[in-house]
Amino acid sequence: MLAHRGDVVIGDDSPADLLARAAVCLSRADTAGTREFASAVVAGDDPALRPRAMALLVRCHQIRDEQVEALALAHRALEVCWAAGDTASAAMIHATMARILLVTSDPVTATAEIMTALEMAEAAGDLTARMWTCAAASVVYFYLEQFDQCFEFCERAAEMARLVGDEVTHGAMIDTIACANMALAEAARAAGDETRALSLAAIAAEQSREATEIARREGNRMNEAVALGNLGETLAFCGRAEEALALFDDWQLDSRDPPSIVTHILDVHGCICMASGRYPEAIGHLRAALAAAESKVSEMVAAEHLADAYERNGDLRGALDTYKLFHSLSKAVASEAARRSGHIAVVRLETAQAKAAAEEERGRVMALQRANHELLRKSLEDPLTGLANRRHLDELMAAGLSGQALLLVDVDHFKRVNDEHSHLVGDQVLRCLADLLRAVCRTEDTVVRFGGEEFAVLLSDSDLAGALAGAERLRVRVAAHDWSTIAPGVTVTVSIGLALGDEAPDPSQILARADERLYEAKRSGRNRVHGPAPLEAMTIRVWAEGEGASGQPAGQGVAGFVRPHHQLGPVP
Ligand code: GH3
Ligand code: MG
Ligand code: MG
Repeated sequence: MLAHRGDVVIGDDSPADLLARAAVCLSRADTAGTREFASAVVAGDDPALRPRAMALLVRCHQIRDEQVEALALAHRALEVCWAAGDTASAAMIHATMARILLVTSDPVTATAEIMTALEMAEAAGDLTARMWTCAAASVVYFYLEQFDQCFEFCERAAEMARLVGDEVTHGAMIDTIACANMALAEAARAAGDETRALSLAAIAAEQSREATEIARREGNRMNEAVALGNLGETLAFCGRAEEALALFDDWQLDSRDPPSIVTHILDVHGCICMASGRYPEAIGHLRAALAAAESKVSEMVAAEHLADAYERNGDLRGALDTYKLFHSLSKAVASEAARRSGHIAVVRLETAQAKAAAEEERGRVMALQRANHELLRKSLEDPLTGLANRRHLDELMAAGLSGQALLLVDVDHFKRVNDEHSHLVGDQVLRCLADLLRAVCRTEDTVVRFGGEEFAVLLSDSDLAGALAGAERLRVRVAAHDWSTIAPGVTVTVSIGLALGDEAPDPSQILARADERLYEAKRSGRNRVHGPAPLEAMTIRVWAEGEGASGQPAGQGVAGFVRPHHQLGPVP
Protein backbone atom coordinates (compact mmCIF):
# COMPACT_ATOMS: atom_id res chain seq x y z
CA MET A 1 0.00 0.00 0.00
CA LEU A 2 1.35 3.39 -0.95
CA ALA A 3 0.83 6.33 1.28
CA HIS A 4 -0.24 9.61 -0.15
CA ARG A 5 1.94 12.46 0.96
CA GLY A 6 0.18 14.31 3.70
CA ASP A 7 -1.02 11.20 5.46
CA VAL A 8 1.08 10.30 8.43
CA VAL A 9 -0.84 7.43 9.85
CA ILE A 10 -1.82 4.81 7.35
CA GLY A 11 -3.95 1.79 8.12
CA ASP A 12 -2.67 -0.98 10.36
CA ASP A 13 0.89 -1.90 11.14
CA SER A 14 1.50 -4.30 8.27
CA PRO A 15 5.04 -4.21 6.90
CA ALA A 16 3.75 -2.52 3.74
CA ASP A 17 2.13 0.21 5.86
CA LEU A 18 5.29 0.67 7.90
CA LEU A 19 7.28 1.02 4.70
CA ALA A 20 4.80 3.59 3.37
CA ARG A 21 5.10 5.53 6.64
CA ALA A 22 8.88 5.45 6.40
CA ALA A 23 8.64 6.87 2.87
CA VAL A 24 6.32 9.67 4.03
CA CYS A 25 8.70 10.54 6.89
CA LEU A 26 11.65 10.60 4.49
CA SER A 27 9.76 12.91 2.14
CA ARG A 28 9.42 15.30 5.08
CA ALA A 29 13.08 14.95 5.97
CA ASP A 30 11.88 13.40 9.25
CA THR A 31 14.87 11.11 9.72
CA ALA A 32 13.82 9.88 13.18
CA GLY A 33 10.46 8.75 11.84
CA THR A 34 12.02 7.18 8.75
CA ARG A 35 14.41 5.24 10.92
CA GLU A 36 11.72 3.99 13.25
CA PHE A 37 9.40 2.68 10.53
CA ALA A 38 12.04 1.42 8.10
CA SER A 39 13.91 -0.41 10.87
CA ALA A 40 10.65 -2.12 11.85
CA VAL A 41 10.29 -3.35 8.25
CA VAL A 42 13.90 -4.59 8.19
CA ALA A 43 13.30 -6.49 11.44
CA GLY A 44 9.88 -7.68 10.26
CA ASP A 45 8.87 -10.89 8.57
CA ASP A 46 8.38 -9.71 4.99
CA PRO A 47 11.76 -10.21 3.31
CA ALA A 48 10.47 -8.84 0.00
CA LEU A 49 10.16 -5.35 1.54
CA ARG A 50 13.55 -5.41 3.28
CA PRO A 51 15.66 -4.07 0.36
CA ARG A 52 13.43 -1.00 -0.09
CA ALA A 53 13.39 -0.30 3.65
CA MET A 54 17.17 -0.50 3.71
CA ALA A 55 17.39 1.86 0.73
CA LEU A 56 15.38 4.41 2.76
CA LEU A 57 17.66 3.92 5.79
CA VAL A 58 20.78 4.49 3.70
CA ARG A 59 19.31 7.75 2.40
CA CYS A 60 18.33 8.66 5.94
CA HIS A 61 21.95 8.38 7.15
CA GLN A 62 23.11 10.32 4.12
CA ILE A 63 20.67 13.17 4.79
CA ARG A 64 21.92 13.27 8.39
CA ASP A 65 25.48 13.60 7.08
CA GLU A 66 26.38 10.21 8.59
CA GLN A 67 28.31 9.24 5.49
CA VAL A 68 30.42 6.42 6.89
CA GLU A 69 27.40 4.74 8.45
CA ALA A 70 25.46 5.32 5.24
CA LEU A 71 28.12 3.59 3.13
CA ALA A 72 28.53 0.70 5.54
CA LEU A 73 24.77 0.14 5.51
CA ALA A 74 24.68 0.51 1.73
CA HIS A 75 27.21 -2.29 1.51
CA ARG A 76 24.98 -4.66 3.51
CA ALA A 77 21.80 -3.43 1.82
CA LEU A 78 23.16 -4.18 -1.64
CA GLU A 79 23.81 -7.77 -0.60
CA VAL A 80 20.20 -8.01 0.56
CA CYS A 81 19.06 -6.55 -2.78
CA TRP A 82 21.12 -9.04 -4.77
CA ALA A 83 19.81 -11.93 -2.73
CA ALA A 84 16.23 -10.74 -3.23
CA GLY A 85 16.78 -9.86 -6.90
CA ASP A 86 15.50 -6.34 -6.14
CA THR A 87 17.29 -4.27 -8.79
CA ALA A 88 15.10 -1.22 -8.23
CA SER A 89 16.11 -0.85 -4.57
CA ALA A 90 19.74 -1.55 -5.49
CA ALA A 91 19.53 1.33 -8.00
CA MET A 92 18.20 3.63 -5.26
CA ILE A 93 21.09 2.65 -2.99
CA HIS A 94 23.63 3.33 -5.74
CA ALA A 95 21.99 6.72 -6.27
CA THR A 96 22.45 7.54 -2.59
CA MET A 97 26.04 6.30 -2.77
CA ALA A 98 26.60 8.78 -5.60
CA ARG A 99 25.30 11.55 -3.32
CA ILE A 100 27.65 10.39 -0.57
CA LEU A 101 30.65 10.35 -2.92
CA LEU A 102 29.75 13.82 -4.04
CA VAL A 103 30.43 15.21 -0.57
CA THR A 104 33.16 12.82 0.54
CA SER A 105 35.08 12.25 -2.64
CA ASP A 106 34.66 14.11 -5.92
CA PRO A 107 31.99 14.54 -8.60
CA VAL A 108 33.88 12.36 -11.09
CA THR A 109 33.84 9.35 -8.75
CA ALA A 110 30.18 10.09 -8.06
CA THR A 111 29.51 10.04 -11.80
CA ALA A 112 30.60 6.42 -12.16
CA GLU A 113 28.29 5.51 -9.31
CA ILE A 114 25.31 7.40 -10.71
CA MET A 115 25.80 5.71 -14.10
CA THR A 116 25.43 2.32 -12.42
CA ALA A 117 22.35 3.57 -10.59
CA LEU A 118 20.73 4.94 -13.76
CA GLU A 119 21.33 1.74 -15.72
CA MET A 120 19.95 -0.43 -12.94
CA ALA A 121 16.86 1.76 -12.48
CA GLU A 122 16.15 1.64 -16.22
CA ALA A 123 16.63 -2.13 -16.24
CA ALA A 124 14.27 -2.49 -13.28
CA GLY A 125 11.71 -0.24 -14.97
CA ASP A 126 10.65 1.03 -11.55
CA LEU A 127 9.32 4.59 -11.60
CA THR A 128 10.37 5.49 -8.06
CA ALA A 129 13.88 4.11 -8.62
CA ARG A 130 14.15 6.04 -11.88
CA MET A 131 13.00 9.20 -10.14
CA TRP A 132 15.55 8.75 -7.33
CA THR A 133 18.41 8.10 -9.73
CA CYS A 134 17.53 10.98 -12.05
CA ALA A 135 17.22 13.33 -9.07
CA ALA A 136 20.63 12.23 -7.74
CA ALA A 137 22.10 12.51 -11.27
CA SER A 138 20.88 16.10 -11.54
CA VAL A 139 22.77 16.96 -8.36
CA VAL A 140 25.93 15.14 -9.50
CA TYR A 141 25.89 17.02 -12.82
CA PHE A 142 25.31 20.29 -11.01
CA TYR A 143 28.57 19.81 -9.10
CA LEU A 144 30.29 18.72 -12.30
CA GLU A 145 29.12 22.08 -13.66
CA GLN A 146 27.55 20.29 -16.61
CA PHE A 147 24.36 22.26 -16.50
CA ASP A 148 22.76 20.94 -19.68
CA GLN A 149 22.73 17.44 -18.23
CA CYS A 150 21.71 18.81 -14.86
CA PHE A 151 18.62 20.44 -16.43
CA GLU A 152 17.79 17.31 -18.37
CA PHE A 153 17.91 15.04 -15.32
CA CYS A 154 15.94 17.58 -13.29
CA GLU A 155 13.21 17.57 -15.90
CA ARG A 156 13.16 13.79 -16.10
CA ALA A 157 13.02 13.41 -12.33
CA ALA A 158 10.31 16.09 -12.07
CA GLU A 159 8.24 14.31 -14.72
CA MET A 160 8.50 11.01 -12.86
CA ALA A 161 7.77 12.74 -9.57
CA ARG A 162 4.59 14.06 -11.17
CA LEU A 163 3.67 10.54 -12.27
CA VAL A 164 4.18 8.99 -8.83
CA GLY A 165 2.66 12.01 -7.06
CA ASP A 166 5.87 12.94 -5.25
CA GLU A 167 5.53 16.69 -4.78
CA VAL A 168 8.60 16.93 -2.55
CA THR A 169 10.94 15.61 -5.25
CA HIS A 170 9.17 17.78 -7.80
CA GLY A 171 9.91 20.84 -5.64
CA ALA A 172 13.50 19.76 -5.02
CA MET A 173 14.05 19.50 -8.77
CA ILE A 174 12.70 23.00 -9.32
CA ASP A 175 15.17 24.26 -6.72
CA THR A 176 18.04 22.40 -8.40
CA ILE A 177 17.11 24.04 -11.71
CA ALA A 178 17.14 27.40 -9.90
CA CYS A 179 20.64 26.68 -8.56
CA ALA A 180 21.89 25.77 -12.04
CA ASN A 181 20.39 28.99 -13.41
CA MET A 182 22.17 30.93 -10.65
CA ALA A 183 25.48 29.28 -11.48
CA LEU A 184 24.98 30.40 -15.08
CA ALA A 185 24.02 33.89 -13.86
CA GLU A 186 27.23 34.15 -11.82
CA ALA A 187 29.26 33.03 -14.84
CA ALA A 188 27.50 35.65 -17.00
CA ARG A 189 28.25 38.37 -14.44
CA ALA A 190 31.92 37.30 -14.28
CA ALA A 191 32.03 37.47 -18.08
CA GLY A 192 30.63 41.02 -17.96
CA ASP A 193 27.20 40.11 -19.39
CA GLU A 194 25.12 41.79 -16.72
CA THR A 195 21.88 41.70 -18.72
CA ARG A 196 22.05 37.93 -19.08
CA ALA A 197 23.11 37.57 -15.43
CA LEU A 198 20.07 39.49 -14.20
CA SER A 199 17.59 37.77 -16.47
CA LEU A 200 18.84 34.32 -15.41
CA ALA A 201 18.76 35.35 -11.75
CA ALA A 202 15.19 36.60 -12.13
CA ILE A 203 14.17 33.20 -13.48
CA ALA A 204 16.07 31.46 -10.66
CA ALA A 205 14.31 33.64 -8.08
CA GLU A 206 10.88 32.62 -9.33
CA GLN A 207 11.91 28.97 -9.32
CA SER A 208 13.35 29.09 -5.79
CA ARG A 209 10.20 30.82 -4.64
CA GLU A 210 8.06 28.06 -6.12
CA ALA A 211 10.33 25.41 -4.58
CA THR A 212 10.05 27.12 -1.18
CA GLU A 213 6.27 27.12 -1.39
CA ILE A 214 6.08 23.47 -2.44
CA ALA A 215 8.40 22.38 0.40
CA ARG A 216 6.35 24.42 2.89
CA ARG A 217 3.08 22.93 1.64
CA GLU A 218 4.54 19.39 1.85
CA GLY A 219 5.97 19.93 5.33
CA ASN A 220 9.63 19.41 4.38
CA ARG A 221 11.40 22.00 6.56
CA MET A 222 14.82 21.03 5.27
CA ASN A 223 13.96 21.65 1.61
CA GLU A 224 12.05 24.79 2.57
CA ALA A 225 15.05 26.23 4.42
CA VAL A 226 17.42 25.38 1.58
CA ALA A 227 15.14 26.83 -1.10
CA LEU A 228 14.49 29.93 1.02
CA GLY A 229 18.23 30.45 1.49
CA ASN A 230 18.72 30.13 -2.26
CA LEU A 231 15.92 32.60 -2.89
CA GLY A 232 17.49 35.09 -0.46
CA GLU A 233 20.89 34.84 -2.11
CA THR A 234 19.37 35.15 -5.56
CA LEU A 235 17.44 38.29 -4.58
CA ALA A 236 20.60 39.76 -3.04
CA PHE A 237 22.45 38.96 -6.30
CA CYS A 238 19.82 41.01 -8.12
CA GLY A 239 20.32 43.93 -5.71
CA ARG A 240 16.98 43.25 -4.03
CA ALA A 241 18.48 42.99 -0.51
CA GLU A 242 15.43 44.45 1.26
CA GLU A 243 13.21 41.81 -0.28
CA ALA A 244 15.73 39.14 0.62
CA LEU A 245 15.94 40.25 4.25
CA ALA A 246 12.16 40.36 4.55
CA LEU A 247 12.14 36.62 3.77
CA PHE A 248 14.02 35.91 6.97
CA ASP A 249 11.80 38.15 9.06
CA ASP A 250 8.91 35.96 7.90
CA TRP A 251 10.75 32.72 8.67
CA GLN A 252 9.21 31.19 11.79
CA LEU A 253 11.75 29.40 13.92
CA ASP A 254 10.49 26.03 15.01
CA SER A 255 11.88 24.37 18.13
CA ARG A 256 11.65 21.03 16.33
CA ASP A 257 14.03 22.18 13.58
CA PRO A 258 17.34 20.34 13.62
CA PRO A 259 20.51 22.44 14.15
CA SER A 260 21.44 22.07 10.49
CA ILE A 261 18.34 24.03 9.44
CA VAL A 262 18.76 26.69 12.13
CA THR A 263 22.43 27.22 11.25
CA HIS A 264 21.75 27.33 7.54
CA ILE A 265 19.05 30.00 7.86
CA LEU A 266 21.10 32.15 10.30
CA ASP A 267 24.20 31.87 8.13
CA VAL A 268 22.45 32.86 4.91
CA HIS A 269 20.64 35.66 6.72
CA GLY A 270 23.97 36.92 8.11
CA CYS A 271 25.65 36.81 4.69
CA ILE A 272 22.84 38.78 3.06
CA CYS A 273 23.03 41.41 5.83
CA MET A 274 26.77 41.60 5.24
CA ALA A 275 26.30 41.99 1.46
CA SER A 276 23.95 44.90 2.07
CA GLY A 277 26.33 46.61 4.49
CA ARG A 278 24.45 45.76 7.70
CA TYR A 279 27.51 44.53 9.55
CA PRO A 280 26.32 44.59 13.19
CA GLU A 281 23.21 42.68 12.19
CA ALA A 282 25.33 40.25 10.16
CA ILE A 283 27.58 39.69 13.18
CA GLY A 284 24.53 38.95 15.34
CA HIS A 285 23.15 36.31 12.97
CA LEU A 286 26.52 34.73 12.26
CA ARG A 287 27.37 34.46 15.97
CA ALA A 288 24.03 32.78 16.50
CA ALA A 289 24.78 30.47 13.55
CA LEU A 290 28.14 29.56 15.07
CA ALA A 291 26.51 28.84 18.44
CA ALA A 292 23.77 26.71 16.89
CA ALA A 293 26.12 24.73 14.65
CA GLU A 294 26.33 21.07 15.52
CA SER A 295 28.65 19.80 12.84
CA LYS A 296 32.23 20.99 12.43
CA VAL A 297 31.58 21.84 8.79
CA SER A 298 28.70 24.25 9.50
CA GLU A 299 30.68 25.69 12.44
CA MET A 300 33.61 26.27 10.08
CA VAL A 301 31.42 27.94 7.44
CA ALA A 302 29.81 30.22 10.02
CA ALA A 303 33.22 31.11 11.55
CA GLU A 304 34.63 32.10 8.17
CA HIS A 305 31.66 34.35 7.44
CA LEU A 306 31.76 35.81 10.95
CA ALA A 307 35.47 36.64 10.69
CA ASP A 308 34.69 38.43 7.44
CA ALA A 309 31.82 40.38 9.07
CA TYR A 310 34.06 41.45 12.04
CA GLU A 311 36.71 42.66 9.64
CA ARG A 312 34.28 44.69 7.56
CA ASN A 313 32.86 46.13 10.75
CA GLY A 314 36.40 47.26 11.73
CA ASP A 315 36.70 44.84 14.66
CA LEU A 316 40.12 43.39 13.83
CA ARG A 317 40.53 41.69 17.23
CA GLY A 318 37.22 39.83 16.75
CA ALA A 319 38.20 39.05 13.17
CA LEU A 320 41.55 37.57 14.19
CA ASP A 321 40.11 35.44 17.00
CA THR A 322 37.32 34.13 14.78
CA TYR A 323 39.75 33.52 11.97
CA LYS A 324 41.91 31.45 14.36
CA LEU A 325 38.81 29.45 15.24
CA PHE A 326 38.05 29.01 11.55
CA HIS A 327 41.62 27.88 10.95
CA SER A 328 41.59 25.21 13.67
CA LEU A 329 38.12 24.05 12.58
CA SER A 330 39.21 23.76 8.97
CA LYS A 331 42.22 21.70 10.06
CA ALA A 332 39.95 19.43 12.06
CA VAL A 333 37.49 19.16 9.19
CA ALA A 334 40.31 18.32 6.77
CA SER A 335 41.71 15.55 8.95
CA GLU A 336 38.21 14.25 9.62
CA ALA A 337 37.57 14.28 5.88
CA ALA A 338 40.82 12.41 5.26
CA ARG A 339 39.92 9.84 7.89
CA ARG A 340 36.43 9.58 6.51
CA SER A 341 37.55 9.20 2.93
CA GLY A 342 39.95 6.49 4.10
CA HIS A 343 37.02 4.77 5.74
CA ILE A 344 34.90 5.24 2.68
CA ALA A 345 37.63 3.94 0.41
CA VAL A 346 37.76 0.78 2.51
CA VAL A 347 33.99 0.35 2.47
CA ARG A 348 33.86 0.98 -1.28
CA LEU A 349 36.64 -1.48 -1.88
CA GLU A 350 34.91 -4.06 0.27
CA THR A 351 31.64 -3.42 -1.52
CA ALA A 352 33.32 -3.83 -4.89
CA GLN A 353 35.14 -6.95 -3.74
CA ALA A 354 32.02 -8.47 -2.24
CA LYS A 355 30.08 -7.67 -5.38
CA ALA A 356 32.79 -9.15 -7.60
CA ALA A 357 33.00 -12.23 -5.39
CA ALA A 358 29.21 -12.63 -5.44
CA GLU A 359 29.16 -12.26 -9.22
CA GLU A 360 32.04 -14.67 -9.65
CA GLU A 361 30.33 -17.18 -7.41
CA ARG A 362 27.07 -16.75 -9.29
CA GLY A 363 28.93 -17.17 -12.59
CA ARG A 364 30.67 -20.29 -11.30
CA VAL A 365 27.41 -21.81 -10.09
CA MET A 366 25.73 -21.03 -13.39
CA ALA A 367 28.62 -22.48 -15.42
CA LEU A 368 28.49 -25.57 -13.26
CA GLN A 369 24.73 -25.81 -13.73
CA ARG A 370 25.17 -25.39 -17.48
CA ALA A 371 27.90 -28.03 -17.55
CA ASN A 372 25.80 -30.41 -15.47
CA HIS A 373 22.81 -29.78 -17.63
CA GLU A 374 24.89 -30.39 -20.75
CA LEU A 375 26.36 -33.54 -19.23
CA LEU A 376 22.94 -34.78 -18.26
CA ARG A 377 21.57 -33.97 -21.70
CA LYS A 378 24.48 -35.76 -23.36
CA SER A 379 24.18 -38.76 -21.11
CA LEU A 380 20.57 -39.15 -22.19
CA GLU A 381 21.08 -38.44 -25.86
CA ASP A 382 22.29 -40.52 -28.78
CA PRO A 383 25.08 -38.62 -30.56
CA LEU A 384 24.41 -39.97 -34.06
CA THR A 385 20.70 -39.14 -34.30
CA GLY A 386 20.14 -36.66 -31.48
CA LEU A 387 17.35 -38.92 -30.20
CA ALA A 388 17.00 -39.91 -26.59
CA ASN A 389 19.08 -43.00 -25.80
CA ARG A 390 18.46 -46.27 -24.02
CA ARG A 391 19.28 -44.73 -20.63
CA HIS A 392 16.54 -42.19 -21.09
CA LEU A 393 14.11 -44.96 -22.03
CA ASP A 394 15.08 -46.89 -18.91
CA GLU A 395 14.28 -43.82 -16.81
CA LEU A 396 10.92 -43.37 -18.49
CA MET A 397 10.08 -47.03 -18.10
CA ALA A 398 11.08 -47.02 -14.45
CA ALA A 399 8.40 -44.36 -13.92
CA GLY A 400 5.81 -46.89 -15.20
CA LEU A 401 4.20 -47.52 -18.56
CA SER A 402 0.54 -47.60 -17.63
CA GLY A 403 -1.68 -46.24 -20.40
CA GLN A 404 1.22 -46.16 -22.83
CA ALA A 405 2.39 -48.42 -25.65
CA LEU A 406 5.93 -49.49 -26.45
CA LEU A 407 7.11 -50.09 -30.03
CA LEU A 408 10.42 -51.74 -30.88
CA VAL A 409 11.34 -50.75 -34.42
CA ASP A 410 14.16 -52.65 -36.19
CA VAL A 411 15.52 -51.95 -39.66
CA ASP A 412 15.15 -54.89 -41.99
CA HIS A 413 18.36 -56.29 -43.44
CA PHE A 414 20.29 -53.27 -42.40
CA LYS A 415 23.52 -55.15 -42.70
CA ARG A 416 22.93 -55.11 -46.47
CA VAL A 417 22.79 -51.30 -46.51
CA ASN A 418 26.19 -51.22 -44.87
CA ASP A 419 27.57 -53.94 -47.06
CA GLU A 420 26.14 -52.79 -50.40
CA HIS A 421 26.66 -49.07 -49.88
CA SER A 422 28.87 -48.10 -46.99
CA HIS A 423 28.86 -47.55 -43.29
CA LEU A 424 28.54 -43.82 -43.93
CA VAL A 425 25.39 -44.37 -45.97
CA GLY A 426 24.19 -46.63 -43.16
CA ASP A 427 24.69 -43.78 -40.70
CA GLN A 428 22.80 -41.40 -42.94
CA VAL A 429 19.93 -43.86 -43.17
CA LEU A 430 19.80 -44.09 -39.36
CA ARG A 431 19.73 -40.30 -39.05
CA CYS A 432 17.04 -39.97 -41.67
CA LEU A 433 15.02 -42.73 -40.05
CA ALA A 434 15.26 -40.91 -36.72
CA ASP A 435 13.86 -37.77 -38.38
CA LEU A 436 11.01 -39.73 -39.95
CA LEU A 437 10.06 -41.37 -36.66
CA ARG A 438 10.13 -38.01 -34.90
CA ALA A 439 8.02 -36.42 -37.64
CA VAL A 440 5.37 -39.13 -37.57
CA CYS A 441 5.08 -39.25 -33.77
CA ARG A 442 3.23 -36.70 -31.66
CA THR A 443 5.17 -34.34 -29.40
CA GLU A 444 3.99 -36.20 -26.33
CA ASP A 445 5.50 -39.47 -27.67
CA THR A 446 9.16 -40.35 -27.10
CA VAL A 447 11.44 -41.73 -29.81
CA VAL A 448 14.57 -43.45 -28.59
CA ARG A 449 17.56 -44.99 -30.34
CA PHE A 450 17.53 -48.31 -28.57
CA GLY A 451 20.84 -49.46 -30.00
CA GLY A 452 22.37 -50.18 -33.40
CA GLU A 453 19.63 -50.09 -36.03
CA GLU A 454 16.90 -50.57 -33.47
CA PHE A 455 14.58 -47.83 -32.18
CA ALA A 456 11.97 -47.70 -29.46
CA VAL A 457 8.90 -45.49 -29.44
CA LEU A 458 6.86 -44.77 -26.33
CA LEU A 459 3.35 -43.77 -27.37
CA SER A 460 1.60 -41.90 -24.59
CA ASP A 461 -2.12 -42.33 -23.93
CA SER A 462 -2.59 -45.24 -26.32
CA ASP A 463 -5.02 -48.15 -26.38
CA LEU A 464 -4.43 -51.16 -28.60
CA ALA A 465 -6.23 -49.78 -31.66
CA GLY A 466 -4.48 -46.41 -31.40
CA ALA A 467 -1.07 -48.00 -30.86
CA LEU A 468 -1.50 -50.39 -33.81
CA ALA A 469 -2.57 -47.52 -36.04
CA GLY A 470 0.41 -45.46 -34.89
CA ALA A 471 2.84 -48.30 -35.47
CA GLU A 472 1.40 -48.95 -38.90
CA ARG A 473 1.69 -45.26 -39.78
CA LEU A 474 5.39 -45.47 -38.89
CA ARG A 475 5.97 -48.59 -40.92
CA VAL A 476 4.23 -47.22 -43.99
CA ARG A 477 5.98 -43.90 -43.77
CA VAL A 478 9.38 -45.58 -43.70
CA ALA A 479 8.57 -47.89 -46.57
CA ALA A 480 7.19 -45.04 -48.64
CA HIS A 481 10.13 -42.76 -48.11
CA ASP A 482 12.42 -42.09 -51.06
CA TRP A 483 15.69 -43.40 -49.66
CA SER A 484 17.49 -43.12 -52.98
CA THR A 485 18.29 -39.48 -52.19
CA ILE A 486 20.86 -40.85 -49.73
CA ALA A 487 22.36 -43.24 -52.25
CA PRO A 488 20.89 -44.74 -55.42
CA GLY A 489 19.31 -48.11 -54.82
CA VAL A 490 18.84 -47.78 -51.07
CA THR A 491 15.52 -49.05 -49.77
CA VAL A 492 14.50 -49.32 -46.15
CA THR A 493 11.69 -51.06 -44.32
CA VAL A 494 11.18 -51.71 -40.63
CA SER A 495 9.61 -54.41 -38.54
CA ILE A 496 7.80 -53.40 -35.37
CA GLY A 497 6.99 -55.28 -32.19
CA LEU A 498 4.28 -53.70 -30.05
CA ALA A 499 3.41 -54.16 -26.37
CA LEU A 500 0.94 -52.27 -24.22
CA GLY A 501 2.06 -50.73 -20.94
CA ASP A 502 -0.72 -52.47 -19.03
CA GLU A 503 0.09 -55.99 -20.26
CA ALA A 504 2.46 -56.76 -17.39
CA PRO A 505 3.30 -55.19 -14.04
CA ASP A 506 7.00 -54.94 -14.74
CA PRO A 507 8.33 -52.63 -17.49
CA SER A 508 11.10 -55.12 -18.31
CA GLN A 509 8.46 -57.76 -19.08
CA ILE A 510 6.75 -55.33 -21.43
CA LEU A 511 10.04 -54.73 -23.16
CA ALA A 512 10.58 -58.47 -23.48
CA ARG A 513 7.14 -58.92 -25.07
CA ALA A 514 7.74 -56.16 -27.57
CA ASP A 515 11.04 -57.82 -28.41
CA GLU A 516 9.38 -61.23 -28.89
CA ARG A 517 6.83 -59.68 -31.25
CA LEU A 518 9.54 -57.90 -33.17
CA TYR A 519 11.24 -61.26 -33.64
CA GLU A 520 7.93 -62.71 -34.87
CA ALA A 521 7.50 -59.84 -37.31
CA LYS A 522 10.96 -60.60 -38.66
CA ARG A 523 10.32 -64.29 -38.86
CA SER A 524 7.02 -63.82 -40.63
CA GLY A 525 8.55 -61.81 -43.44
CA ARG A 526 9.63 -58.39 -42.11
CA ASN A 527 8.13 -54.96 -42.95
CA ARG A 528 5.21 -55.54 -40.63
CA VAL A 529 3.77 -54.79 -37.18
CA HIS A 530 3.13 -57.46 -34.58
CA GLY A 531 0.88 -56.66 -31.64
CA PRO A 532 -0.38 -58.46 -28.50
CA ALA A 533 -3.00 -61.22 -28.14
CA PRO A 534 -5.83 -61.63 -28.85
CA LEU A 535 -4.66 -59.82 -31.94
CA GLU A 536 -1.21 -61.27 -31.37
CA ALA A 537 -1.75 -63.71 -34.16
CA MET A 538 -2.59 -60.90 -36.47
CA THR A 539 -0.27 -58.73 -38.42
CA ILE A 540 -1.23 -55.35 -39.60
CA ARG A 541 -0.22 -54.75 -43.17
CA VAL A 542 -0.91 -51.63 -45.01
CA TRP A 543 0.56 -51.59 -48.42
CA ALA A 544 2.43 -48.62 -49.45
CA GLU A 545 1.97 -47.37 -52.95
CA GLY A 546 4.48 -49.14 -55.18
CA GLU A 547 5.29 -51.96 -52.78
CA GLY A 548 5.91 -55.15 -54.64
CA ALA A 549 4.29 -58.48 -53.99
CA SER A 550 7.41 -59.63 -52.20
CA GLY A 551 6.58 -57.25 -49.39
CA GLN A 552 9.71 -55.29 -50.09
CA PRO A 553 9.24 -51.72 -51.10
CA ALA A 554 9.80 -50.81 -54.67
CA GLY A 555 12.17 -48.10 -53.52
CA GLN A 556 12.56 -45.35 -56.06
CA GLY A 557 9.46 -43.73 -57.33
CA VAL A 558 7.43 -44.59 -54.25
CA ALA A 559 4.89 -41.87 -53.86
CA GLY A 560 1.91 -41.47 -51.54
CA PHE A 561 1.57 -44.11 -48.93
CA VAL A 562 -1.61 -45.63 -47.60
CA ARG A 563 -3.83 -47.64 -49.74
CA PRO A 564 -7.27 -47.97 -48.09
CA HIS A 565 -6.77 -51.66 -47.76
CA HIS A 566 -6.13 -52.72 -44.18
CA GLN A 567 -5.41 -56.35 -44.26
CA LEU A 568 -5.99 -57.39 -40.68
CA GLY A 569 -5.52 -61.06 -40.94
CA PRO A 570 -3.55 -64.03 -39.70
CA VAL A 571 0.16 -64.09 -40.02
CA PRO A 572 0.86 -65.11 -43.54
P1 GH3 B 1 17.39 -57.98 -39.61
O1 GH3 B 1 16.40 -57.65 -40.66
O2 GH3 B 1 17.30 -59.38 -39.15
O3 GH3 B 1 17.32 -57.02 -38.50
O4 GH3 B 1 18.80 -57.84 -40.32
P2 GH3 B 1 19.91 -56.80 -40.02
O5 GH3 B 1 20.93 -56.90 -41.03
O6 GH3 B 1 19.28 -55.47 -39.88
O7 GH3 B 1 20.39 -57.25 -38.60
P3 GH3 B 1 21.79 -57.55 -38.03
O8 GH3 B 1 21.60 -57.54 -36.52
O9 GH3 B 1 22.34 -58.78 -38.62
O10 GH3 B 1 22.69 -56.37 -38.46
C1 GH3 B 1 22.57 -55.08 -37.91
C2 GH3 B 1 23.62 -54.25 -38.48
O11 GH3 B 1 23.51 -52.92 -38.13
C3 GH3 B 1 25.01 -54.68 -38.04
C4 GH3 B 1 25.74 -53.43 -37.71
O12 GH3 B 1 26.93 -53.30 -38.42
C5 GH3 B 1 24.78 -52.35 -38.18
N1 GH3 B 1 24.89 -51.22 -37.33
C6 GH3 B 1 24.65 -51.14 -36.00
N2 GH3 B 1 24.85 -49.86 -35.54
C7 GH3 B 1 25.22 -49.15 -36.64
C8 GH3 B 1 25.58 -47.76 -36.82
O13 GH3 B 1 25.58 -46.94 -35.89
N3 GH3 B 1 25.89 -47.37 -38.08
C9 GH3 B 1 25.89 -48.23 -39.12
N4 GH3 B 1 26.21 -47.77 -40.32
N5 GH3 B 1 25.59 -49.52 -38.95
C10 GH3 B 1 25.24 -49.98 -37.74
MG1 MG C 1 17.83 -55.20 -38.35
MG1 MG D 1 18.76 -55.49 -34.95
